[in-house]
Amino acid sequence: MRVKLCWLQLVQILGMATNLLFAERCRLCSCLCLNNPDDTAALRAVCLRCRAAIWASVTPAQLTYCLPGYVLTVASAACYQGSLKKLVYRFKYDGDCLLAYDLAFLLVQAWVYAMPCLNGLPVVFVPIPLHVSRLAARGYNHAELLAREAGRVLQVPVDTEALRRVKATPPQHGLGQAARWANLAGAFAGNHKRLANKAIVLVDDICTSGATMCEAARAAFAAGATCVVGLTVARARTLKSQ
Ligand SMILES: [Zn+2]
Repeated sequence: MRVKLCWLQLVQILGMATNLLFAERCRLCSCLCLNNPDDTAALRAVCLRCRAAIWASVTPAQLTYCLPGYVLTVASAACYQGSLKKLVYRFKYDGDCLLAYDLAFLLVQAWVYAMPCLNGLPVVFVPIPLHVSRLAARGYNHAELLAREAGRVLQVPVDTEALRRVKATPPQHGLGQAARWANLAGAFAGNHKRLANKAIVLVDDICTSGATMCEAARAAFAAGATCVVGLTVARARTLKSQ
């Protein structure tokens, strides 16, 4: 019995050591994240304390853009501010791809706001594509990582070939509203074979002016999509319906 107890203790100690060895540092406060890996609701790169702050910021909402020839609804999980803003920035610009899991979990929260617009149709997630030059520089498409993680949880297929970014545009960051819309004009082209008569959900990290989502939707409709909805992790605080 005594030997058994020792072995049991040894296994427990080894388990704790392994957890510590592979534990991630919280991206917000740098403490060790000792989240239970079997907890499907756990954020992997954020500690329990910071997770509470993220959850407190979740306020799913939808915005509708009425543009010539089509209407687009974009559902998002939270405002782009505070801790969430730090995480999105780190995910997008610092190569911290583990955050795709955490941020996609917020996409899942916004999903219920996108679903009513899809009229029960079978859907495909289409991540907003990067131009090949930016994809080469960054090494990954953050929107694709988000779409794949959210698609895995929601069991929605992902199509990365449905849309192409055919115009290398300067970053939207720092541009005014009018310049953002002009910058994106003609930036995307849809693949008719993959979009004709399809219902798709465009996935991205942030919806700021709505220009990226609307231009991508315009290209998707032009290629034959019958229903297009947007889904993002965050939305700009000052966002207004067009
Ligand atoms: Zn933390």
